[in-house]
Amino acid sequence: MSDAAMKLVVVGAAGRMGQTLIRLVDSMDGVTLHAAVARPGSPFVGKDAGEIAGLGTNGITVGDDPLAAFLHADGVLDFTTPATTNEFAALAGQARIVHVIGTTGCSAEDNAKITAAARHARVVKSGNMGLGVNLLSVLVERAARALDPADWDIEVLEMHHKRKVDAPSGTALLLGEAAAKGRGIDLVSKSVRSRDGHTGPREEGTIGFATLRGGSVVGEHSVIFAGEGETVTMSHSATDRSIFGRGAVKAALWARDKKPGLYSMLDVLGLSSR
Ligand code: NAD
Repeated sequence: MSDAAMKLVVVGAAGRMGQTLIRLVDSMDGVTLHAAVARPGSPFVGKDAGEIAGLGTNGITVGDDPLAAFLHADGVLDFTTPATTNEFAALAGQARIVHVIGTTGCSAEDNAKITAAARHARVVKSGNMGLGVNLLSVLVERAARALDPADWDIEVLEMHHKRKVDAPSGTALLLGEAAAKGRGIDLVSKSVRSRDGHTGPREEGTIGFATLRGGSVVGEHSVIFAGEGETVTMSHSATDRSIFGRGAVKAALWARDKKPGLYSMLDVLGLSSR
């Protein structure tokens, strides 16, 4: 592996995570900000990336051309939108660089495109880049494996800030996937994503989701195992989005000398069972 600092591009540079990432790349060892890319037409294009992230001038001008930005880069940190991430996955594949994807709300079709791009790029994708939630997902999988579905119902509850646009959150789905894996079931066919009106009794073996939105909440998640006469709740609170950013930078550094492929944060953190 090269000793030179890894040259990273932050896309979605003006976003909440984009600004966080610009600050983190500036403060972390082994990485350097190579370019910053915002949405074409964004008022931030042409501005100094350090200025928009509150760091003071850093000499990197925010651009709107991902191709030019990726050309001599080693990796891209992408917390944007599913459509944008799809486009960037193809470009990162062509450039054969590391693509760290934090974007949530991707459809099955989006994920298929990302998997195709991972034939050439080293992609790390996770609905949550933090250590705590990934550790929690391992514990949830174990609990779900141990608790009989005839006696224990599983519900995933989440709350986020009022500007979040997708639901349930990527983290809620990640935790739901972990519970489904523990039970050996398919989450898509067994999940109840919302309830309203006369729903009838709860169907045994399903995994339910409930979503709250409001204020500036960074991310609250609970997985509730509800039995007869007792409940077990496993939860995580994020109070600062830098935990996701630090995880993303860590993922980029980890993937630098890996073979092309699609990896998760469990792989990065050494928590994977595969
Ligand atoms: P945000 O809306 O503040 O930022 C998204 C940014 O992407 C915006 O600035 C937008 O202009 C930009 N963008 C859109 N199209 C673009 C394009 N074509 N080129 C360049 N930039 C473009 O949202 P956010 O809170 O920063 O979250 C972004 C995503 O990351 C969401 O999907 C969110 O759920 C996810 N997220 C994931 C994690 C994780 O750990 N995986 C943590 C936090 C947020």
